Amino acid sequence: MNNKLLVSNTFLNGNCVEKGDNFFKLINPADESFVGNLVCSTEKQIDEAINLTYESVGAMRALSRDSKVDILQYIYNEVSQKREEFGRLISLEMGAPIELATNAHINMGLDHLSNTIKVLKDYDFIEENDGYSIHKISIGAVALITPWNWPLNQLFTKVASAIAAGCPVLIKPSEYSPFSAKLVAEIISQSNLPKGSFNMINGIGRDMGHLITSDPRISMISFTGSTKAGIEIQKNAAESIKKVSLELGGKSAHVIFDDVDYQTAIPVALDQCFLNSGQSCSSPTRLLVPEKDIHEIEEIAQKHAETIECINPSETKKGIGPLVNVNQYNQVKSFIKTGLDQGLEILYGDSRLPANQTKGYYIKPTIFTRVKNNSDIAQKEIFGPVLCIITYKDLDDAVKKVNDSRYGLSSYITCSNYDDGVRFATSIEAGQTIINKPSRGSVPAPFGGFKMSGNGREHGVYGLEEYLEVKAII
Ligand code: NAD
Repeated sequence: MNNKLLVSNTFLNGNCVEKGDNFFKLINPADESFVGNLVCSTEKQIDEAINLTYESVGAMRALSRDSKVDILQYIYNEVSQKREEFGRLISLEMGAPIELATNAHINMGLDHLSNTIKVLKDYDFIEENDGYSIHKISIGAVALITPWNWPLNQLFTKVASAIAAGCPVLIKPSEYSPFSAKLVAEIISQSNLPKGSFNMINGIGRDMGHLITSDPRISMISFTGSTKAGIEIQKNAAESIKKVSLELGGKSAHVIFDDVDYQTAIPVALDQCFLNSGQSCSSPTRLLVPEKDIHEIEEIAQKHAETIECINPSETKKGIGPLVNVNQYNQVKSFIKTGLDQGLEILYGDSRLPANQTKGYYIKPTIFTRVKNNSDIAQKEIFGPVLCIITYKDLDDAVKKVNDSRYGLSSYITCSNYDDGVRFATSIEAGQTIINKPSRGSVPAPFGGFKMSGNGREHGVYGLEEYLEVKAII
């Protein structure tokens, strides 16, 4: 095996360990070429990583607030300086267009670091009460398991809060985004965190995950990924009564009120759905529109979809990149086929390669229209650039359809009067409702799901408190 093509992101005690006899093939999603082999951590390395993390609980709990702020600030500065490098790596590993990878992908990670620093500076870890005090202390050794779709965002939402809480961390990043994770590990290993309190392992989650999730030395798992894996993790963690914080899948709805300018609202709604090639847990993939205006809305949606190009990740123009891997590609294609087999109407797109690409895991932005909310493609998470337009008769009908989902991660409203939006939002079963914002909403606001979208909250104060135990001294 050519050594140059080996990548290891097993980090024990701040050192990268390159030994292993199990490999995971890394493929460039843009052209299906072989990029290299990820060296999977061995069982012995995983055990050592868990032990190092467990043994560092005392040292991490003893860190002062100022030390933790300095460490997080150091990480922030290093990531900022390495923006271009991170952008290149993220674009290579998961196919995000270079502009998106260098900007939004990095900014999301940085914003969580800076926001957590702000929270940490002001947070009251001790609360005095009449006759007793409440001490909020680090929960202990935590294992953070993350996906590939927004790799830096996923790592730093968890890492920043865990360090702020004083927890030693064991990270298992996605096997599909090992390059950016390795650079993160190099940066954190150079920080002033106590030795042994930061460890990283990698491999195929479904094969090796149980070694982490069932180990009694780990006090908490924070997991972001599919609902299927989340269920398995929860089961494996049950024996040792771990805290399990789950951030899972979604099928978020975007409700367009009938009092808005559709020419502005519909293109924005499509762009939100197709961002990152639709590979965002909170993507608004169900677009709920007034039934009476469906013709006009379809016309606008089709025209806008025609302007969205599938581009090679190295291109700097506007467009969407390939999907991350062949499994994801086949899954999305199969959902499009299901929609067509079930007689649903396709407004734009299909599952063939776009005309300007000959290889790679590209899927054109695809829109199904007049979709029944109970159909498979409106109920299941597709995790690709596929939008379902669903009509509603009135707002009561709309809220029923929004909530008729096993998921409840995010939701979106476009309306002309913000207060009307707020009234409507209070009836929606989802962790967030974003009103009249073309972007992702707010960094300090808590993020997490209702129902099968999970049970945890990340970002800001709520994110920090996930990693804290409440102790009363009387
Ligand atoms: P995935 O569940 O396949 O993998 C996520 C991570 O978990 C990877 O590191 C993987 O190796 C590991 N893993 C898989 N099975 C495991 C097991 N049994 N035990 C322990 N670890 C295991 O998900 P993915 O394909 O990487 O990401 C896409 C999914 O993540 C989508 O469903 C998406 O909605 C979800 N997601 C949710 C959020 C959120 O905040 N709610 C954010 C991003 C992505």
